Amino acid sequence: MSSDYQSVWRKRATQHAALPTDYQKHPHRTSEAAVQIEDDRTGMNVETLRRAFLDNLYYIQGKDLQLATPYDLYMALSYTVRDRLLQRWLHTQEVYLQQDVRSVCYLSAEYLLGRQLGNALINVGLYEQARAFLKEMNLDLRDLMEQEIEPGLGNGGLGRLAACFMDSLASLEIPAIGYGIRYEFGIFAQSIRDGWQVEQPDRWLRYGNPWEIPRPEYLVEVKFGGHTEGYIDPAGQYRVSWVNDRSVLGTPYDYPVPGYRNDTVNTLRLWSARATEDFNFQVFDSGDFARAVADKTYSENITKVLYPNDNTYQGRELRLEQQYFFVSCSLQDIIRRYLSYHSDFESFADKVTLQINDTHPSIGIAELMRLLVDEYLVGWDKAWQITRRVFAYTNHTLLSEALERWPVALFGNLLPRHLEIIYEINRRFLDEVRERFPEDEGRIARLSLIQEGSQKQVRMANLACVGSHAINGVAQLHTELLKKDVLADFYALWPEKFTNVTNGVTPRRFLLLSNPKLALLLSERIGQDWLKDLDQIGRIESLVADPAFRSAWQQIKDDNKRDLAEYILQFNQIEVDPDSLFDIQVKRFHEYKRQLLLAFFIVTLYNRLKRQPDLEIVPRTFIFGGKSAPGYAMAKLIIKFINSVARVVNSDPQVSRHLKVVFLANYNVSLAQRIYPACDLSEQISTAGKEASGTSNMKFALNGALTIGTLDGANIEIREKVGPDNFFLFGLTAQQVYDLKARGYNPRDYYDSNAELREVVDRISAGGFSGGDTNLFRPLLDSLLYRDDYLVFADYQAYIDCQEQVSQAFRDRERWLTMSILNSARMGYFSSDRSIREYSRNIWQSEPVPVEPESPAIRPAAE
Ligand SMILES: *Cc1c(COP(=O)(O)O)cnc(C)c1O
Repeated sequence: MSSDYQSVWRKRATQHAALPTDYQKHPHRTSEAAVQIEDDRTGMNVETLRRAFLDNLYYIQGKDLQLATPYDLYMALSYTVRDRLLQRWLHTQEVYLQQDVRSVCYLSAEYLLGRQLGNALINVGLYEQARAFLKEMNLDLRDLMEQEIEPGLGNGGLGRLAACFMDSLASLEIPAIGYGIRYEFGIFAQSIRDGWQVEQPDRWLRYGNPWEIPRPEYLVEVKFGGHTEGYIDPAGQYRVSWVNDRSVLGTPYDYPVPGYRNDTVNTLRLWSARATEDFNFQVFDSGDFARAVADKTYSENITKVLYPNDNTYQGRELRLEQQYFFVSCSLQDIIRRYLSYHSDFESFADKVTLQINDTHPSIGIAELMRLLVDEYLVGWDKAWQITRRVFAYTNHTLLSEALERWPVALFGNLLPRHLEIIYEINRRFLDEVRERFPEDEGRIARLSLIQEGSQKQVRMANLACVGSHAINGVAQLHTELLKKDVLADFYALWPEKFTNVTNGVTPRRFLLLSNPKLALLLSERIGQDWLKDLDQIGRIESLVADPAFRSAWQQIKDDNKRDLAEYILQFNQIEVDPDSLFDIQVKRFHEYKRQLLLAFFIVTLYNRLKRQPDLEIVPRTFIFGGKSAPGYAMAKLIIKFINSVARVVNSDPQVSRHLKVVFLANYNVSLAQRIYPACDLSEQISTAGKEASGTSNMKFALNGALTIGTLDGANIEIREKVGPDNFFLFGLTAQQVYDLKARGYNPRDYYDSNAELREVVDRISAGGFSGGDTNLFRPLLDSLLYRDDYLVFADYQAYIDCQEQVSQAFRDRERWLTMSILNSARMGYFSSDRSIREYSRNIWQSEPVPVEPESPAIRPAAE
């Protein structure tokens, strides 16, 4: 511990010693009477909660029970929970400071959090108490929870992973802070009009947000543009300064991240952009008021809206501004916090570890170099050593269109100093490579941080690899493909940097909160340990033959299906049979995820029923959901196609006795939580070698769905764990996909030789799902017949055959039930707690720091 650190601490200690002892712990307590009030304000018993709820309704919302809207009630309850989080939150942060802990800083441009209230109630242990006191008042907790507009600050899997990781870090008592962007508009709201996706802006902050606390006192400035100037410092050292031409202020908004039933509350710190000066006074004085205000608005645009692309990169300047903005804010914040207890950077890499969630925050590598070298005058070599020790990079995609590359010209205009730094990193790096691999210019060209050509580009994945000490993929196959293909040259250079950390999901949100009946059954039979140690769920395997357990399991699945059927009736006006096989594909719309393959299966069944009206088939309800990027025309056309098939199938009396097709609009975390528990069959049918991991595959199986899937992403590991007999496997392997493409793939051959496939294509082509319009779905059919990049035709027959096995299995309900139980029982590995333990051990070298309760009152009695 440095002496500087100690002196700061002595100062803090004496400041505290000057106050009455009681005040140190509870600054808002001053007397015995105040103690009484404090307990009232944050006490955990039902009576105190009820009073606090009514107080908050009155004093914050300005309503009484007669006037309150459901939203007012939601707000009052949220504040009541937040009050009870604050004590632990402050205390946790105090413990972290006092112990000068090593902290994990997770940098992610997205956090797809989902609703906060239910999760907070569960994690602090107040769910049952809240339900009880609300019930006494004739209010339903679930109704209140439904009022919350979810913070949709992410697109899909990557953002949801960040949210699961924040939950697991806090639940495992690991000191951590998440950094990201407080988008004023999250992922757009989707509605379906005439079968087409329509986007509406997501004004999620419209009615206020009880879960965030702005911290304007930790404001930071972020520079943009301008040029650089060299100078000689007083010690005769050549240095560079960045003369920017504009800057923006970042205000942090803090969100509490409570651990599950412990006393840890970590922080998610999201940055919001503000203009540096409220007005440009020169323009203002010249009388152009509107322009002065418009300039201000320009700066604030940076955090205005989330880019709605999933797995595709869009080279827009504003996006780079967003990335640099949040990363610079975060690094400045990290350094500020570090320097308040340290006088130099000697132990920086011991106290801080930075995980970057994909390449979106990879500009941080150049920014940390700039801060250290230019602002804190650390020598280059030392700064580089620190930078490489603190950064670790998670790759999330195998799709080349998703790899971020910024045109050098754009980059240099926005961040001239960073471009210089990247060139210098590159020069030194390529010198090293030349020494190890002399006269291998091909290798140099591939490894370079700069892609040469008519338009030079900065390769962010290369920057991330060079500037990190660890590189990981998110499932075994994904990591192997990174080593063999996407990042092969880096693997040849530094094999020791590569590790795999298979993704996971939090069982608190995706079982306890989303499937309360199943959670209760588990806890009744095996206790509650599975919530902290999901491997314990394996203990239900011994109950698989227990008739009472089996019938309870079946009853719960039936109830959940009936609940979803009610939702479908309410929102889609479609009546579905809860006894039919619920066959579900919900995820972002992307050609590689192959929603079309499932749609083709539906059309195949439709054709069979039209041909042979008395055909006996297993009744199925097909449920789709998911958003398309607004600029992704093919994905939008696929949504239109599915809705068109739905219309034809559902309105055909002969077919709709057996089949229903439903498209649920606006798929988000809240809807996902309703869907997973009601699923029989989970569709995980991406082209092998394209899906990095997938996490909905885990959430479905954990809730007792069986999977039909390819050997892709984490499907492979799921199948290994649940056993091949309990998983419906089909399709080409990644290697076979590769070989087929290398040989020359001709989708037309499959069309010519497969009668049922031809019948599907021909019916679509003839306008069978477009009221006779033969043009509408032409682009879709052409893309399949002439390219079929994702091998829908090549996998069609294997998929249809596999679906036949699914039907056979579903006919034997007892067999299906056994497989359902075994799927859940064997999903323990896929907890995000396990993922976080692996990151902690293999990448971060971080340890839990348990937070003891500050006072006994804050821990509720065990339920
Ligand atoms: C889990 C989840 C995802 C990821 O789904 P994949 O099928 O793995 O792509 C996307 N969106 C939401 C809302 C989720 O909860």
